[in-house]
Amino acid sequence: MLEVDKITAGYGKLQILHDLSIRVDAGELVSVVGANGAGKSTMLRAISGLIETRTGEIRYDGEKISGLRPHQVVRRRVIQVSEDRDLFGPMTVEQNLVLGAWTRKRAEVDDDLARVFDLFPILKERRKQIAQTMSGGQQQMVAIGRALMAQPQMLMLDEPSTGLSPKLTWDVLNAAAAIRETGIGVLLVEQNAAQALSISDRAYVLESGSVVLEGPGRELAGDERVRKAYLGL
Ligand code: ATP
Repeated sequence: MLEVDKITAGYGKLQILHDLSIRVDAGELVSVVGANGAGKSTMLRAISGLIETRTGEIRYDGEKISGLRPHQVVRRRVIQVSEDRDLFGPMTVEQNLVLGAWTRKRAEVDDDLARVFDLFPILKERRKQIAQTMSGGQQQMVAIGRALMAQPQMLMLDEPSTGLSPKLTWDVLNAAAAIRETGIGVLLVEQNAAQALSISDRAYVLESGSVVLEGPGRELAGDERVRKAYLGL
């Protein structure tokens, strides 16, 4: 279980997150929605160890992970897929996927590759294709697949639908839902609040770096304030 416990964090003198607390259980899909600049990406960066937390604590399975370096957080199997995907463009799909397994023994890698190809059959078909020639949606699948190759227990997705058509957005969000069925906790940050809430077990609404609402995804999707502020209804 991932527990973010009253953290504050920011950039230089700028404090962005204020006493922010969230929780994600194993096998749970949790969304964080909120306006541009609410601090969603900053929260993921703090969990990944890319920025420091100033107060509060982040724990994974009861052990403190705040204060660890990013590669140490990855070794605890808490893995983030960044918004810009960070693929190695000139390399093939398969090479990008195998790179995700850098923490692991080669013998296990083939099994994981097969699991990624089960989840995203298009990547199997295209495994020899150069990554940068794939569509945005397919590149997002490669980025998620690469994160899965590191055998995450907690997978964090930062705006996976950026630049994708509605159909591909559903493909990617449905993949996130399928991943949580395997017991992995998924923390999803999305601008597409309506779609994200509809597939989430639970969700949080972030405003100015603090949680202002939380509840089951479908319940929040029906909340009057959420509908007005984030769903344009
Ligand atoms: P978006 O959907 O726009 O990414 P967000 O909720 O993810 O929104 P953040 O990216 O976490 O928001 O940004 C929160 C605030 O932190 C914003 O005011 C942003 O300008 C600021 N910020 C983000 N990155 C930096 C940085 N590297 N240096 C200084 N300020 C930053």
